[in-house]
Amino acid sequence: MEVRVRYAPSPTGLQHIGGVRTALYNYFFAKSQGGKFILRIEDTDRERYSDESLQDLYDTLDWLGIRWDEGPVVGGPCGPYIQSERLELYQKYAKQLVDEGKAYYCYCTPERLEEVRKQQIASKSQYQGYDRHCANLSEEERKAAQASGIRPVIRLRVPTEGKTTFHDVLMGDITRRNRDVSPDPILLKSDGYPTYHLANVIDDHLMGITHIMRAQEWIPSGPLHILLYQAFGWQPPVYCHLPMVCGKDGQKLSKRHGDTAVRDFRAKGYLPEAILNYVTLVGWSLDGQTEFFTREELEKCFVLENIHVSSGTFDYKKLDWFNGQYIRKKSDDEIVSLITPYLQQAGFISSDVSADEKEKLYKLAPPLRERMKVLSDCVPLSAFLFRDEPCTDISQYIAKGMDESSAKEAFLRGSDIVIANEKAGKSFSETEEDVRKLSEELGVKLNGIFQPVRVAITNSTVSLPLHDSISLLGLEETERRIERAKALFTQED
Ligand code: GLU
Ligand code: ZN
Repeated sequence: MEVRVRYAPSPTGLQHIGGVRTALYNYFFAKSQGGKFILRIEDTDRERYSDESLQDLYDTLDWLGIRWDEGPVVGGPCGPYIQSERLELYQKYAKQLVDEGKAYYCYCTPERLEEVRKQQIASKSQYQGYDRHCANLSEEERKAAQASGIRPVIRLRVPTEGKTTFHDVLMGDITRRNRDVSPDPILLKSDGYPTYHLANVIDDHLMGITHIMRAQEWIPSGPLHILLYQAFGWQPPVYCHLPMVCGKDGQKLSKRHGDTAVRDFRAKGYLPEAILNYVTLVGWSLDGQTEFFTREELEKCFVLENIHVSSGTFDYKKLDWFNGQYIRKKSDDEIVSLITPYLQQAGFISSDVSADEKEKLYKLAPPLRERMKVLSDCVPLSAFLFRDEPCTDISQYIAKGMDESSAKEAFLRGSDIVIANEKAGKSFSETEEDVRKLSEELGVKLNGIFQPVRVAITNSTVSLPLHDSISLLGLEETERRIERAKALFTQED
């Protein structure tokens, strides 16, 4: 049996980490099984639909290098793969259920349904939901309602007795009493659009889906879907509901925790390979220890059973670490092309990069590669080279635990060593050794000397390694900035 899985997002918002993880698990499972990965657009919620979301979906999968075997754009034997283009199919199947007595037309107006709801609340009725008013209309009653011009919906006849069970690969058997399944849910709306349940079940069947991997929040829909499969006489696929993606506090990942839209991560300069690698590990592992996986490796080694049963924790710091690791693997050429748009946007270099600018970028690439966690870090880290905005806040020059006068002495003497050694062409390790001796003499930490020197040269406490900063800036400019900072210290007296 060929494995056929699908990612079936509703384009009602930007692709978020949780959705993308569902897509990745489906994709990797399909690939590892030599099966097919299908993309289906569930766009029947027309009020919440947006073109922007659909474009964002395509862009995100494209950026991650995830190609679908069947779906919109590429087509396939079970198309169309966009639900709003399949309305006639859903109408046909809903009608079939009506003809077989498994579903029925309901003519209730919204006002009537609201009235029923109010009464149920007022009488504290145990029974909530649709009162099955139209479940057994006589032919005359139906015709009369039809003649009055009301456009009916189609509802599924849910049995009031018995239980429905479905099996989940990770969670085992899940059973629900039929009377707890929502009473006679709508399958087809009066405008001819299907509800999620109807369209989802029909499409999974017609598209030959063998395994459904989707978020755990869909578990409550499971019994209803099974009842639908039974009504049609179809075999349901294998279910594998995926554990939630949570923040560190154990709550479902949301904007409160930080970025959740992949587009925002991308804008900050996360690499697709880092996102793909890390997101896959939130809730899955190969052997509990291997951390680095390329897409190609995951396409081979992904195992469904290794998905964790408990929810996964999305750790932003861990992602930063992964991203940093992937940045370190990049060549100079790659770093230059990755940082160029950020530096252009910051106005540091021109949109048509000149030869001079190029040269600077190639000099910047090696130290940046070691320091960036995300690509956008290149802006603050390299700003000193493109803009000279001196730091006039003296407290920035003073390392933790030091006072101004000891910081001043450390700076004056330390910067003299740095400049003198640079002029003498000494190596930076010699300079470090000399500064270490000075720190012992003054009884201060190394950083007590290096911090003010660094701030003087780079105008910032976060910067590239000192020796790189000096060689990027040139000795003359370095000296000028040191002198300027000395003046700042002296004028304080
Ligand atoms: N359209 C649903 C969603 O956006 C799909 C759920 C499913 O995979 O069945 O999550
Ligand atoms: Zn009704």
